[in-house]
Amino acid sequence: MAIEDYRGDVEMCCRCSACKHIPLQMVKGVEHSYACPSIARYNFHAYSGGGRLLIAKEMLNSGFKYTDKLLDIVYNCQMCGGCDTSCKYAMDMEVLEPIYEFRIRCVETGHTNPALDKVINSLRKQGTMVPGAKGKRAAWAQGMGIKDATKEKVDVYYHVGCLTSYDKDYQKLARATAKILKKAGVDFGIGYENESCCGGRAFQMGYKDDFLKQAKKNMDMLKKAGVKTLVTGCADGYQAFKVLYDKYNLKGDLEVLHITEYLARLIKEGKLKLNKKVNLTVTYHDPCYLGRLGEPWIHWQGKKIPGYKFVFDPPKVYRRGTYGVYEPPREVLKSVPGVKLFEMDRIKEYAWCCGAGGGVNESNPEFAKWTATERIEEAESTGAEAIVTACPWCEKNFNQAIKESGSDLKVYDIVEIVEKAI
Ligand code: SF4
Ligand code: SF4
Repeated sequence: MAIEDYRGDVEMCCRCSACKHIPLQMVKGVEHSYACPSIARYNFHAYSGGGRLLIAKEMLNSGFKYTDKLLDIVYNCQMCGGCDTSCKYAMDMEVLEPIYEFRIRCVETGHTNPALDKVINSLRKQGTMVPGAKGKRAAWAQGMGIKDATKEKVDVYYHVGCLTSYDKDYQKLARATAKILKKAGVDFGIGYENESCCGGRAFQMGYKDDFLKQAKKNMDMLKKAGVKTLVTGCADGYQAFKVLYDKYNLKGDLEVLHITEYLARLIKEGKLKLNKKVNLTVTYHDPCYLGRLGEPWIHWQGKKIPGYKFVFDPPKVYRRGTYGVYEPPREVLKSVPGVKLFEMDRIKEYAWCCGAGGGVNESNPEFAKWTATERIEEAESTGAEAIVTACPWCEKNFNQAIKESGSDLKVYDIVEIVEKAI
């Protein structure tokens, strides 16, 4: 697909601005009504989902002209999909897909962002999205006796992810996950130095070719190792393996589960017992790439019939974020004795982004922090002591924002809560 394939969608945008906010029916108060961090921060239509579509329409009609201002708009977007689900509450049209394609076109024509180039160079050289990563990818696993899934058959392959593998502050999540899986008696293994970046973040940044290279490399390795079920604790990794690999017909019949789905299953089957009390009031943050963007890909083939509004034959089924992973993390939290869950105003497909996605953390850390601070404030308004998420990138961005804001809200990944309960 290319931006040209979405001409009908960009032409359908009626500039109603519904993509800026969560649907009116879901709004609980004016302070938590925005869906799009970019428009909330920059307050000019071009920075909204609809504004980006209008720019794309103009470019398609009059040719692509890349100014600094245009690139500022393109790269100050978390690719969080809030605009997409809000628009689709009423409309049958794609919003995020053309935004992805626009960014891909920028990269393909050499209009990149230097901060994102640096991350991609790290991916090309070291197979990781953590620039300057030192040491071995699986150094965190030393002494834990974890099987090498590329050398022996296992029931479950644990894909650790770049941040959890290399960032010393977040390796604790890999260790907690391994400890929990062992406790539940799961036959699992990791790829050690054969694990490589899923490529999902490269795709979000617009580097489609780099994403495809990573996807092919990973699927070759997994097929060779005979992996049938892959579990990951990273929301970006989950979305890449589950949705993007499927979109590009690379996933095959690989079963992809987020750790929260797998833990909910183990708890239901009685294989994982959470006995220890964890006295904590928490609120749960739905990561965009696990929630609305984690919804399975829907393949559509048919005819696109142009007219005043184009129609699809057979009718196209739209992904509206409804079938993302929302209940399993909540079920896991509710299974932990002593944990009380309070919900924020914007949840599930209408959750506010943590701010780290789409390369914004690298290209505009101030905007990433601002977005996280908004979410921290929303979490605090529930009265909870802690915000719990299910993605290391969210946890890191929240921690960075808290460090500066002086908030005393605690931040956890869900596996840290489960680890406390076993
Ligand atoms: S993208 Fe959708 S919600 Fe936004 S202005 Fe266009 S039609 Fe309205
Ligand atoms: S993807 Fe997110 S940040 Fe970008 S326009 Fe849509 S809602 Fe705004």
